Amino acid sequence: MGQPSSLLIVAIDGGAASGKSSTARSLAACFPLLHVDTGAHYRAITAEMLRRGVAYSDPAAVASALQQFTLGTRVSGSAAALEINGRIPGDEIRSPEVNTAVSHFAALPSVRSTLLHYQRAQADVAQKHGFRGLVMEGRDIGSVIFPDADLRFFLHADPGERARRRAEQGQQDSVAERDRLDSSRKTAPLTIPAGAIAIDSTHLTLEEVVSKVAALVEEKLAKHSR
Ligand code: C5P
Repeated sequence: MGQPSSLLIVAIDGGAASGKSSTARSLAACFPLLHVDTGAHYRAITAEMLRRGVAYSDPAAVASALQQFTLGTRVSGSAAALEINGRIPGDEIRSPEVNTAVSHFAALPSVRSTLLHYQRAQADVAQKHGFRGLVMEGRDIGSVIFPDADLRFFLHADPGERARRRAEQGQQDSVAERDRLDSSRKTAPLTIPAGAIAIDSTHLTLEEVVSKVAALVEEKLAKHSR
């Protein structure tokens, strides 16, 4: 799998607005681990396709645009960001247009295989920058990207609570529709990987979720450094 043995890999999967990003960010800052938000990767690719006028309904055009992308990584603090041709896409990745289109682009095998290679290589980025490990969040991290991760979590929250969280962030986002598309696609659907630790965050604060996850990470790190 190309996973350096000395590096701790933590996978956090879950539906839209399930609390993955906040959890992964806080966890990364605690240890520190390199934080990789793979939803931001799919969003960045989507924003760049929309900017170039490439439609998800034309998979050949998407595949040919992907050939023109050189992907890189910029690490700042404990966060890794995807660069496309030397540029990190900005706030446009959270726009309503990207919210609507991202799950359609993410269902295309050419997009997924490009990001699969890129995401697995983030373990080398973490190692090179001297991190003890990597926390990667998304939909298929524990099932496809790092099935041998040291820890695999799956976060849930009630649909009403997730819609409320997005609205609180001032975002227009149809969380339930993205989950429907993400769960029903053929390639790497959103699923709870066998053996993953499921956490329902509906009635938990962010601090409570982070402390559950951090306790298990701490334990694994202690074993790793023995
Ligand atoms: O995590 P976030 O909600 O920002 O992800 C945006 C979209 O990117 C998801 O709805 C999904 O379509 C796609 N995605 C994916 N696989 C991942 C991460 C995100 O398909 N590992």
